Amino acid sequence: MDLVRRSQYGLPASSPAAHIASTGGVKVHYLGSEYSSRRHDLCDDYVRAIRASHLANTVEDYVDIAYNAVVCEHGTVYEGRGPNRRSGANGTAALNTKDYSVCALLAKAGGGLDTPPDAQLHGIRDAIDWLRAEGEAGDYIGGHRDGHATTCPGDKLYDWVRRGAPRPGATPPPARPVVDLSRLISAAHVDPPKGGTPVSYGGVRTVEAALNAEGLLAGGLVDGHFGTSTITAYRAWQKRCGYSGADADGIPGKTSLTRLGQARGFTVID
Ligand SMILES: [Zn+2]
Ligand SMILES: [Zn+2]
Repeated sequence: MDLVRRSQYGLPASSPAAHIASTGGVKVHYLGSEYSSRRHDLCDDYVRAIRASHLANTVEDYVDIAYNAVVCEHGTVYEGRGPNRRSGANGTAALNTKDYSVCALLAKAGGGLDTPPDAQLHGIRDAIDWLRAEGEAGDYIGGHRDGHATTCPGDKLYDWVRRGAPRPGATPPPARPVVDLSRLISAAHVDPPKGGTPVSYGGVRTVEAALNAEGLLAGGLVDGHFGTSTITAYRAWQKRCGYSGADADGIPGKTSLTRLGQARGFTVID
């Protein structure tokens, strides 16, 4: 996280805004005006200009920049009012008490820089995490438009907010199930005579589901028991893999199981 504290860019070290112990969460804003991409060394000038315009606003009577944090296109987080300060940006006193506010330096649609770069999304996420860690912000993440009549923070940013404000590129592939070969072999030896309960190893069900997907085991027999039906089905898989005779005995081996895992999405460990 690249955080610039108030005193580091020329603001009084602490905000005069009212102290607040915690909030339900964070609301995301954008400028909603014309705004063009610029060099990073000009970003803090812009944040100071926002603060100056807020302080000059006699209608709202702001005591400070309205936002708790401002995030530039390069992902830097500028401390606004900061954590534990009541926001001035969410629309009403009640809404300002309910959530913190984080503003992206982002234009209205068609007004210049109107698509948040990945770095900025990371920065907004950094600001949210920071307000949670230092300002007791709750889990809620919303947009200015939630509960207030405004289009802020614009459709692009709001779509991202609605998806839970995920870090760009952070979507990991779904975890593959893992099947332990030695435990599976033990189950194949132990389970047949037990014919019922209890299931000796959970990975059996993963393998049975794969055999079912291969058309070798009926769905009703995917029961977590490596019984005689599963032995028969696995033998058929071994034959499909080119094994015969004693090598196709229905007891899983490393090669045939790995091939089944590659075909049906599980990882084999010894
Ligand atoms: Zn807003
Ligand atoms: Zn910047």
